[in-house]
Amino acid sequence: MKYFRLSQNAVKALADTYSTPLLVLSLEQIELNYNLLAENMPGVKIYYAVKANPDERIVRKIHELGGYFDVASDGEMQMLNRMGIDSARMVYANPMKTASGLKVAHAVGVNKFTFDCESEIGKMAAAEPGATVLLRIRVDNPHALVDLNKKFGAHADEALALLTKAQAAGLDVAGLCFHVGSQSTDNAAYLEALKTCRELFSAAAERGMNLRILDIGGGFPIPTLTEEPDVAVMAAEIYKAVRQYFPETEIWSEPGRYICGTAVNLITQVIGTKERNNQQWYFLDDGLYGTFSGVIFDHWDFELETFKTGKKIPATFAGPSCDSLDIMFRDKPTVPLEIGDLILVPNCGAYTSASATVFNGFAKTQIVVWEEVYEEIKAKLELAAAV
Ligand SMILES: *Cc1c(COP(=O)(O)O)cnc(C)c1O
Repeated sequence: MKYFRLSQNAVKALADTYSTPLLVLSLEQIELNYNLLAENMPGVKIYYAVKANPDERIVRKIHELGGYFDVASDGEMQMLNRMGIDSARMVYANPMKTASGLKVAHAVGVNKFTFDCESEIGKMAAAEPGATVLLRIRVDNPHALVDLNKKFGAHADEALALLTKAQAAGLDVAGLCFHVGSQSTDNAAYLEALKTCRELFSAAAERGMNLRILDIGGGFPIPTLTEEPDVAVMAAEIYKAVRQYFPETEIWSEPGRYICGTAVNLITQVIGTKERNNQQWYFLDDGLYGTFSGVIFDHWDFELETFKTGKKIPATFAGPSCDSLDIMFRDKPTVPLEIGDLILVPNCGAYTSASATVFNGFAKTQIVVWEEVYEEIKAKLELAAAV
């Protein structure tokens, strides 16, 4: 699969027209990513995990495509509700819900929840009697970049007791869910989790509980500096196993990164250079407190396309703020750069702008939609192509 990547001429024209830093979002790429999952997992309900990138244009596109939404907070539920999205299309998939989150869920009509411990049962039953609930199961996965199972998921051996307690509290105990961890490049964890869930579905059936929904979570990967996973193959293989173990069950999945990660490019610019501690330093106009927040929160190593050729040197890249933490990369190989050089950062849509701050007075980087701005820069692109 070829993912959204601006040409050098487009980068120049966009920087010229909108200035930098600038995030460019392709809604066509969002659609391609959604369709790739939908086609390889037919009938599976796709709940877009809004936390990966809550941009309203992405949410609206998923809605147009017939998608559903994984929301985790009062703010996400309110935003989708404001956008006119039916609460029946949302699952409040935060196993540890806040009081205000439960209040907003009740107010806007979200009544599907996930949980992973006993203390959550009473909270859900009080806020939304009879709510539909899925128990989140823990899966260990050494092949995920971000391991969510350190924080969430009940052990398989406590699952039946928790399901029984939830049922006794009057909740509609509908099924199980899991999350193999984010940027998971190996299907082994999925296959293991499916096996565990199959055993639990059968054990629950023996106790008279008829589980009917399985939520296989998120985790699908995007290209990194070193590998380009084939998600069509991964999804097809997972789907095959899902149908083998769960021929009749309603299946949900909750992709975040895969839907939005490849749909956004960042254009940033070198604003200063200096030599320090025997290394070359480049200061960019977007930083660790901005789009590059994923370096910290998402453990992500970004590709920097400089459009220059030559011998590479190890360099330090820092952001524009006055804090010394604001350093994105050290010893990053790069062709020597100068003030004004434009840098393209592809695959920049997940866990980037979503966790950016306005620290030190630097506004969040503007996001424009490629299919909309293309018309505006078309003349400049044609001119550049002609010379
Ligand atoms: C973050 C999250 C997701 C999305 O995960 P990705 O790895 O981005 O696909 C899905 N479900 C839940 C419950 C999450 O917390």
